[in-house]
Amino acid sequence: MKNETIYILAIESSCDDTSAAVLSNKKVLSNITATQKIHEEYGGVVPELASRAHQQNIVPVVHQALNKANIDKKQLSAIAFTRGPGLMGSLLVGTSFAKSLSLGLNIPLIEVNHMQAHILAHFIEGQQDGAPEFPFLAMTISGGHTQIVLVKDFFDMEILGETLDDAVGEAFDKSAKILGLPYPGGPLVDKYAQEGNPKAFPFPKPKVEGLNFSFSGLKTSILYFIQRETAKNPDFVQENLKDICASIQKTIIHILMDKLKKAVEETGITQIAIGGGVSANSGIRNALKMAEKNRGWQTFIPRFEYCTDNAAMIGVVGYLKYQQHKFSEQDISAKARYMLSQKKL
Ligand code: ADP
Ligand code: MG
Repeated sequence: MKNETIYILAIESSCDDTSAAVLSNKKVLSNITATQKIHEEYGGVVPELASRAHQQNIVPVVHQALNKANIDKKQLSAIAFTRGPGLMGSLLVGTSFAKSLSLGLNIPLIEVNHMQAHILAHFIEGQQDGAPEFPFLAMTISGGHTQIVLVKDFFDMEILGETLDDAVGEAFDKSAKILGLPYPGGPLVDKYAQEGNPKAFPFPKPKVEGLNFSFSGLKTSILYFIQRETAKNPDFVQENLKDICASIQKTIIHILMDKLKKAVEETGITQIAIGGGVSANSGIRNALKMAEKNRGWQTFIPRFEYCTDNAAMIGVVGYLKYQQHKFSEQDISAKARYMLSQKKL
């Protein structure tokens, strides 16, 4: 099996992105994502609409992924899919599709934990920072998750800390909503923050035990602050948008970096790999670069297309599991709440 090339078709449908990828071993041949625009007008993901859009998108997205990779279905070695965690209706579309295809083609089916995939995305071939070595610390920061994970091996991970309420991406998006910015507002907060004064408006940082996070208090204090200021000056947000965004972003990045520093102190591990959509944030990227210089950390940031929800990361886990013959049975079902470390169950 050593020299055999493994072709994996991977499918991701956990939230609002329908994605399919084809990999040749750890190399991505194609990674096609249909992002659902329908949710923008609601200011957040509407589960029922997400599920319907996945049903419409999945066939064309898989076709496109195979075409771009120039791979015929018959060449595939296995089908990998996101089993969870995520929205049940969304997961069911990808799960059913993957099961049918593997049955039809008579090739193995491989279930993948979405959170593990965010972490193992670092092992996709050709990343500019290379792949971290075990053990390393992973921080997954996205619209649905905020976790610090001790990664001992590909499938041996331990959650050291996670959010007790909102995810960090939600903190960005909800702050943006308070400021009247369109959904998802995270990238816009980042854009305006880069031209603003981060010290203009101080926001309190929560006091949370251990390596856990909390972002809901910050959201409330931003809301009250904006309400108070707009009562005095209705144009307050408009006149101070860049400074407000810079101040919010600085506070969020401080919260993340404080916990990362604590995790490094507690574990003695200085290899830090980040993932999830918020990894695109310029503030966190700069803070990590500074920590490389000042603290001697080694940091790993995947290419942006592998940070947000994507099927390529599902595919690389599919490949790693294929090598270990970790295959799934046809009676497997989607799992909306799917813990990253089974040991904790
Ligand atoms: P999920 O699938 O868990 O919702 P994703 O990995 O798709 O999350 O990432 C989406 C999240 O990342 C959104 O909350 C979005 O606002 C946030 N995000 C993306 N780019 C940035 C950025 N530059 N700064 C801050 N947040 C960002
Ligand atoms: Mg997403």
